[in-house]
Amino acid sequence: MSTTISDLLTLSHELGREDRGLAILGEGNTSVRLSDETFAVKASGTCLGTLKEEDVVECRFSALLPFLEKDNLTDQQVDDALLAARVDSKAKKPSVEAVFHASLLSLPGIKFIGHAHATTVNQILCSTRARDFADHRMFPDEIVCCGTASVFIPYTDPGLRLAKTIRHQTDEFIKKHQRQPRVILMENHGIITLGGTWQSVLSAMLMAEKAAKIFVGAAALGGPVFFSPRNVERIAGRPDEAYRQRALKM
Ligand SMILES: [Zn+2]
Repeated sequence: MSTTISDLLTLSHELGREDRGLAILGEGNTSVRLSDETFAVKASGTCLGTLKEEDVVECRFSALLPFLEKDNLTDQQVDDALLAARVDSKAKKPSVEAVFHASLLSLPGIKFIGHAHATTVNQILCSTRARDFADHRMFPDEIVCCGTASVFIPYTDPGLRLAKTIRHQTDEFIKKHQRQPRVILMENHGIITLGGTWQSVLSAMLMAEKAAKIFVGAAALGGPVFFSPRNVERIAGRPDEAYRQRALKM
């Protein structure tokens, strides 16, 4: 097994740990860019916590990225495209979310992606405070691991339409903030974290779940009290925070 695939399995097992409440049963998925031409993604219906090499499918970017430009495809057409994207036609079927993985893995500097239906994050994403959580930051380590803000995706039908919305909102985020997002939050659905290493994807996921717990607790006490935009930028620019990011392989 290549080290890249074993890194993907490590990330998957970490995200699928039962005690973390990030993903149970077939929930969530992970991916890694293997080359300019292909990436590996979790197969549909497999379990993150016990993911094995044969549960990972290698797919061609060129077979999926053109779909981001198309409208009105049927579920059957998307299904056929997912199967046709496999490098090995005997491999399992890629997750329906493989299209957003292909799209996000083609952003500069992104190599690994994790997606989960994290329990506490979803408490907020299924509430009226979802956008508040995406737009604001409450404590320094949240900024170090999750960035200065998260991309927010209003509820969208899963599949191709969701992949298109994620790409559009992510491009808008990069234009506005002049940096790559580390966290994407999908209303009534779940969280995506992305980065150049599997460790950065895991750190962003764990810290987002911790931030969600703090948000929910602080909301019960009349809060949360958010950082001002000035304080967020100040922490994001501090050399000691940059050192911590390097130490965490962010
Ligand atoms: Zn999902």
